[in-house]
Amino acid sequence: MAGRTVRGARNGAELDLLRQIRTRIPPGGAVALGIGDDCALLRTRPGEDIAVTTDLSIDGRHFRLGWHPPQSVGHRTLTRGLSDLAAMGARPLAAFVSLGLPPTLVRPGRGRASWMSRFYDGLLALADSSGISLAGGDLSESPMALADIVLVGSVPRGKALLRSGSAPGDAIYVTGALGGSAAGLARMAERAWTLNPSTRLRIPPSWDSMLQPHLYPQPRLRQGVWLVEHRAATAAIDLSDGLSTDIAHICEESGVAAEIDSAAIPIAAGATLENALHGGEDYELLFTARAGQRLPAQIAGVPITRIGRVIAARPGKPPITLLTPAGPRSLEPLGWQHFR
Ligand SMILES: [Mg+2]
Repeated sequence: MAGRTVRGARNGAELDLLRQIRTRIPPGGAVALGIGDDCALLRTRPGEDIAVTTDLSIDGRHFRLGWHPPQSVGHRTLTRGLSDLAAMGARPLAAFVSLGLPPTLVRPGRGRASWMSRFYDGLLALADSSGISLAGGDLSESPMALADIVLVGSVPRGKALLRSGSAPGDAIYVTGALGGSAAGLARMAERAWTLNPSTRLRIPPSWDSMLQPHLYPQPRLRQGVWLVEHRAATAAIDLSDGLSTDIAHICEESGVAAEIDSAAIPIAAGATLENALHGGEDYELLFTARAGQRLPAQIAGVPITRIGRVIAARPGKPPITLLTPAGPRSLEPLGWQHFR
């Protein structure tokens, strides 16, 4: 499929556009052969496991055409895959993106590049800064806009960070600050509420920094690789669904329970504790480490904060406890849950 970059493309302009995109992809890295043949060829090093992840992003579910700039949709699509690699401590090798788009999004507009071209602007900028090549993909006409990303990475054999390695006594950490994405999305939704549904949301430039965590989240690749290289973590997951949901995944896979100290949670500027607990899409890392494990205050420029501890699972007791000034309470997983 790497070479069959377009399926159902009906005119030369679309093919030209795809050729242009191909010329924007620098060769090299792990991609021995990229777009242009039937498959991409990836070159790996001996002694590595290959990490593969796939994520589907759909208009109205993971982004909104009327709200999100196309560059942000491209960036966020790639972030979802890169963040999964980061959570395993994997080094990214290659990305594959398949798009299903209505024809209006493939054609250039009045005096501006097509939605698809601007989608690739956002995706390729993040690919470049992450040191990863786009090695293939597919394009099909579709009644609704969707983007499917496949990421391939590598990690030293047997050293990937799993969700299942936590044990009672471990400390729980997060990178960065939480809730910024949900807070930004809430501001966009508030503003959109005042508009006719068919009107495109115009984002004032003064909102740029506030919306950055939502529109352009940064996957924590260097932090994940650092944790593997220093054998510092017992388990890890990326915060895609929300702290309350993602810590529950670690507890379930590790067969443990957890206590989170609400006062210790690093809350992003402009966000609430609820945003930080349940918001999701922050793409920070949540990881556990042995109680005696020494960790720096920052890893590759991103702060590391201890927010709780792993305890033994108790039959009949809720797995996650939130310690608050008013006393302990059960923390239900209220983050993003599919088809809820
Ligand atoms: Mg994940």
